[in-house]
This record gives sequence, C-alpha cells and structure tokens, in this order.
Amino acid sequence: MIIQLQKNIDEGQKGQIIDKINSLKYSTTEVNTQKGSYIIGIGKKDFDIRQLGNMPGIADIHIVSDDYKLVSAKWKVEPSVIDLGDGVSISAKDFAVMAGPCSIEGEAQIRNTIQHLKENNIRIMRGGVYKPRSSPYSFRGMGIEGLQLWHQLASEAGIKIITEVMQVSQIEEMYPYVDIFQVGARNTQNFNLLDELGKVDKPVMIKRGISGTIDELLYSAEYVFSGGNEKLLLCERGIRTYEKASRNTLDLNAIPILKEKTHLPVIADPSHGIGIRKHVESMTLASIMAGADGVIVEVHEKPEEAFSDGQQTLDYKESKCLYEKIRQVYELRQTF
Ligand code: PEP
Ligand code: MN
Repeated sequence: MIIQLQKNIDEGQKGQIIDKINSLKYSTTEVNTQKGSYIIGIGKKDFDIRQLGNMPGIADIHIVSDDYKLVSAKWKVEPSVIDLGDGVSISAKDFAVMAGPCSIEGEAQIRNTIQHLKENNIRIMRGGVYKPRSSPYSFRGMGIEGLQLWHQLASEAGIKIITEVMQVSQIEEMYPYVDIFQVGARNTQNFNLLDELGKVDKPVMIKRGISGTIDELLYSAEYVFSGGNEKLLLCERGIRTYEKASRNTLDLNAIPILKEKTHLPVIADPSHGIGIRKHVESMTLASIMAGADGVIVEVHEKPEEAFSDGQQTLDYKESKCLYEKIRQVYELRQTF
C-alpha cells in the first residue's frame, strides 16, 4: 500500500496515520522524494480502506499488490518523465538517444565526440571515467579529472552527461559534473550505493545485473526511490546465458515486460547487449520496436583504437546511419 500524503501535512497528522496503519498490523516506511511524501505500508491482512480514507493529511491511497511498490505501474498510470533541463527529457513521449565512447580517453576524443553528437542532434553523451574491468590490468578510466574536463566541454556545447558511478565515495565529487548517474551491471545489487543514490537529486539509470532478473532490477530501483530519489531510468543491457556466440543476450522480452510493470522509462543498451559491432544496429532497432523509451550506444571515431569495448563500438559513419534509422523506426512505432 502506498499512501500519498498531502503537501501541507503536519507531523501530528502524519503520526496519527502511521499509528493507524500500524494498528492494522502493517509496517510503515516514510519516503520523501523531490516530488512528494509517501508512507509505504507492508502487511498481509485485508482491511477496509475507508478506515484510512478519511484521515486528514492523506492525498491518495493505492493498493499495490506487487512486492515493489513505488516503481510499480499499478499506482502511477502516467509514465514518468526525466527532465534533464535545457529542453532535454526522457520519457515514453521523448525518445532518448545516448551515445559516446565506452571510456573517456582524453580531450581530443571528448571534443570530436561532442562535435559528432552536435552534428546529429544528439543531446546526451555517454562515457565512463570509472571503468569496471574484468582484468585489473585493463584501462580503468580517467577518473574525476577526466569527468571535469568532459563536463566543461559538454556544458559549453549543451550536451548532457551520463556516466557510471562505481562506489559511494565517488558520488559527492562526481555530483556537480553529472546529469545522469549510471549504476553498472556489476553494481545493480550494491545496496549501499543504491541507498546513497536515493539521497541525490539527480537522475539515476540502473542497469540490469549480469545475471539479474527483471524483478531484481525493479527492486534495485525501489531502493533508490524509497531512499528519496524518484528520478530513475532502467536499462536492459543483456544478461549472461549459456550462449557464447554473442557477448551477452540482449533480453528484448524485458522491454515490454518492464514497460508493463513500471512507470519508469526503459532504456536499451544494444552495444553491451550483443557485443558485436555489425549487429548493434539491428538490435537497436528491435529494441525500439519492443517499446524502449531510449537507447544507449557506444560510438568512437576509431573503434579499433578505443581503450575499451571497441569490438561493439560504432564509428561515426555507422552511428550517423543508425541515428537516421532510429528516427525512422521510432516514427513508424508511433503510427501503431
Ligand atoms: C558501460 O556502460 O560501459 C558498462 C560498463 O556497462 P555495463 O555495466 O552494462 O557492463
Ligand atoms: Mn562499454
């Protein structure tokens, strides 16, 4: 059960509501986000909702049968909109293309990526400055200096930044330079990180865990929302299966299933999802037809020289062609 509280509720009224819910043998958790205040009631016994309905301070009561509550589509019928400012939004109505290298490598690379994005009307640049690498000897990112430089150049160009935060201690230093914090697939269930991102007033995109279920992804988002941050995006980036012919298995099924289960925008990552450059285009377009609200794609001027993930990275010519097809397929989807 989600109890939406009125904006002007006083502490006394809140206390009475909590006492009443507890007396019905429901536990309570208070949630205060950028957009509202809620009490989450968890319990088993059915009761007559009118017992609560008339209490002062309550704006609305929603019975949500899912185990995750706040991210469920059962109470919030309108899809959520993530507003990044300067006319950049992500939602079911504003399809987002995020593109850029796997890793931020240096000033020249940042500059020419920004130019490529501007030429193609792409407003959100991806890139990692803290890289989770399977081998400790691989390039592990430029760190905060790389992010600061990137932010300076991107903000001059009106480009928004999405980048991965790997641990709690990085959040504060990254905060001024980030438009969307990305939680990587290896951190989907890092509950300490999710708790801390709940305290942040910036959007967070959570990637599905490498072996994570759809429900586990939704629970991870519930951590951030219940921690106080409802600016959330979910990302299907492929899961590990027995299949060896592709790097991961992009779970296209997850897209319509997530869209049904949650009001949060759903982003597809076909680059990591298949891991093979020549098939990124078809999986991107398939993700759009499956209902994605956006895609995140790896691009690099010279993929063969990229510090990481070159094998799944498009060059500028390939990505330009992809952006055009994305627009065509998205338009086609809207006619259905
Ligand atoms: C990335 O986006 O470069 C990345 C490391 O993604 P994931 O966490 O999905 O592996
Ligand atoms: Mn990558």
